[in-house]
Amino acid sequence: MTGPGAPRPPQARGGAPRRGRSGVLLLGGTGEARELATALTARGVPVLSSLAGRLADPVLPAGEVRVGGFGGVPGLTDWLGAHRPEVVVDATHPFAAGMTANAAAACAATGTRLLRLQRPGWTAGPGDDWRWADSLAAAAGMVRGTVFLTTGRQGVGAFAGLPGRVLVRCVDPPTDPLPPGAVLLLARGPFTVADELALMREHAVDVVVSKDSGGHMTAAKLDAARQLGIPVVLVRRPPLPAGVPVVGSVEEALACLT
Ligand code: NAP
Repeated sequence: MTGPGAPRPPQARGGAPRRGRSGVLLLGGTGEARELATALTARGVPVLSSLAGRLADPVLPAGEVRVGGFGGVPGLTDWLGAHRPEVVVDATHPFAAGMTANAAAACAATGTRLLRLQRPGWTAGPGDDWRWADSLAAAAGMVRGTVFLTTGRQGVGAFAGLPGRVLVRCVDPPTDPLPPGAVLLLARGPFTVADELALMREHAVDVVVSKDSGGHMTAAKLDAARQLGIPVVLVRRPPLPAGVPVVGSVEEALACLT
């Protein structure tokens, strides 16, 4: 990520770049990570985006991309020691708690600057009927009737014991066992409110289950549920590691990095 004419590497505002370090390792898999990769690349900042490799056909970000796990904290620590990025931006999904914890531990071990980019969670407005759950298993215990499950393919097994109809919507088919009354809907957002209203009406959905992912890409189901008077069970986010600076938007991340 270095070379003649290479752009100035990102650094803390007003701080000096750390010796022998350059570029950004961007832990991705989210829309925000792709937006940040585009913005940094446009500013001439060398970015290497990292994807877990979960999706068969991922939307690729701008700039360089690597795919696959690092091998836990030891693997990421070795990787950071060998590649010496100036900064790691953890822009993984709010529920990718394993990667977030690994990034915090490996960055601390190698003295690598770490910034967490995490979009704010959703907030209920007038007319919303939201019920909060601490886990997918807890959410499964709070629903009955026809359930619209939008929590993604991982963890679907928590709902395998539900007796009724369960619409399972995800990008790729889940590997977990599905409930006996499952209807699998393979689709990639964003979805419009009109789409979500039509789907919920067609299947006579009684309750929606979602992670508190935040952001606009998947929020239409919440609007549709409110309009139809349907409750939403929201799974709370896992906590963030202590001591890691957090920004809530791509703009804030850019302000810190450039
Ligand atoms: P996770 O449980 O936190 O991570 C499990 C392992 O997957 C990590 O320990 C790491 O393997 C690998 N990994 C995760 N993110 C990676 C990345 N960006 N680059 C390289 N390796 C990565 O993560 P997850 O919940 O399975 O999510 C996987 C990916 O999907 C993340 O990138 C996340 O942003 C995206 N995503 C997740 C959700 C969700 O609801 N969890 C939703 C949308 C998108 P090693 O230990 O071998 O390094």
